[in-house]
Amino acid sequence: MTIQVRNAQEKRVAIDDETLAILKAQIHGKVIAPEDAEYDEARKVWNAMIDRRPGLIVECTGTADVLYAVRFARQHNLLITVRGAGHNIAGRSLQNEVLLVDLSRMRYVHVNPEEKTAVVAPGATLADIDHETEAYGLALPMGINSTTGIGGLTLGGGFGWLSRTLGMTVDNLISVEAVTVAGERIVCDRDHHPDLFWALMGGGGNFAIVTSFQFRLHPVGPEVVCGPVVYDFAEAKKVLANYRAYCSSCPEKATVWFVLRRSPPFPFLPSSYHGKLVMIVVGCYNGPLDEGMREFAKLKKFGTPLGDAIAPRRLRDFQRSFDPLVTPGARNYWKTHNFKEIADGLIDVLAEYGQSLPHEESEIFIAQVGGETNRVPKDATAYPHRDVSFTMNVHTRWREEQDDKVCSSWARDFYKAVEPFATGGAYINFISEGDDTIEGAFAENAKRLAKVKAHYDPGNILRPYLKL
Ligand SMILES: Cc1cc2nc3c(=O)[nH]c(=O)nc-3n(C[C@H](O)[C@H](O)[C@H](O)COP(=O)(O)OP(=O)(O)OC[C@H]3O[C@@H](n4cnc5c(N)ncnc54)[C@H](O)[C@@H]3O)c2cc1C
Repeated sequence: MTIQVRNAQEKRVAIDDETLAILKAQIHGKVIAPEDAEYDEARKVWNAMIDRRPGLIVECTGTADVLYAVRFARQHNLLITVRGAGHNIAGRSLQNEVLLVDLSRMRYVHVNPEEKTAVVAPGATLADIDHETEAYGLALPMGINSTTGIGGLTLGGGFGWLSRTLGMTVDNLISVEAVTVAGERIVCDRDHHPDLFWALMGGGGNFAIVTSFQFRLHPVGPEVVCGPVVYDFAEAKKVLANYRAYCSSCPEKATVWFVLRRSPPFPFLPSSYHGKLVMIVVGCYNGPLDEGMREFAKLKKFGTPLGDAIAPRRLRDFQRSFDPLVTPGARNYWKTHNFKEIADGLIDVLAEYGQSLPHEESEIFIAQVGGETNRVPKDATAYPHRDVSFTMNVHTRWREEQDDKVCSSWARDFYKAVEPFATGGAYINFISEGDDTIEGAFAENAKRLAKVKAHYDPGNILRPYLKL
């Protein structure tokens, strides 16, 4: 059996049994080839739209495996992609006939409670981290679904319920251990390889392979006041206007997002509303519980609530509460915009398109950011969107391949309709395959990122580098 893997000149390199045996003898994890029984399972990622066939998969168990895999690739001049937890909407961890360095088995989280830091393996999920940090009453600001990988999330920026008080995930990065395409292990931070460290803080990845992250943690909860308030979609315009007014003066401890979608079977809602179009206002208050309960009483006054579940809850449980809506295996196409404010025209477009969501699992959400995320200078990290108050993500989501065209066209139409109210910037971690919004991802940081890539990966071995 001979395996074909692409090289840096885009030619196929044949890897024969003898060569493969040398790699297998070095790797502590698994080496999986296309004819192996586990290959199809091993190449799956979160978004079922992505159906790519890597040339070879190396499932690493630690830094040594990554070093051996990279040195093997270097010896044979092979292209490499890297996978964390495989959540990226564009499937950037996979390319056809490219060697996949799979880090998804590397999931340890080591907390140092005295120093309030954690060293985290690159395949850890947000659930893995919340579980370990909560034991000490600590937390890291991350995203809002517990199954997401810390690797891609951090390398793109990372924001969620705690970011307005504690910053983006990258703002809490102290150092990383990485393997370069030259096959060397390095440690980088603000003093060592500072340019690479800067690029890893939001540049979208693929400058080097990060084998561990060290983060600063913060005392949080473990209970926080959080949860949804559900309104009838008929009230969308009024609720959105009140949401806007609330966000303009709310304390930074409050983070409030909204979602337009068909209602999940929330136990606190009359069953007659399950599956009906609704507007969900969701909040998390990173502060004292009594203060949070008083503050979030205001979320129930945006209209006439159908029901709510605002209550003190463990942060790690809240982080999991939306997981059932975004399980892996569905077909997904996302579009994203950033906003400085919610304009009247935006409210009109949201109310119009919210009515025509193309599938019962599709949703439009707008996340409130700002606070600490805005206090970092634009050029301090590769993530440049430091003047944004809201980030929108249209989760167009459906099940059948025959609906691909209708659903993705709907998302593109909606995206265009919203464009006049947006900044033109876009969060790299929400950009779909082949999307033209890539220009907005790095803004004025793009040139410096290109220089870092040219220095650390001059042969463009780590793919895909998001060229502008
Ligand atoms: C359901 C869902 C909810 C989400 N919610 C949020 C949210 O609330 N906030 C938010 O900020 N984002 C959110 N995201 C976006 C998320 O940040 C990205 O999907 C991110 O890419 C996921 O990281 P991953 O490691 O799982 O992805 P992967 O697909 O494994 O990797 C993504 C990219 O990073 C590269 N990469 C990954 N690990 C490494 C590494 N160790 N070294 C070098 N390169 C690496 C990969 O090559 C690839 O290019 C969400 C995504 C999903 C699917």
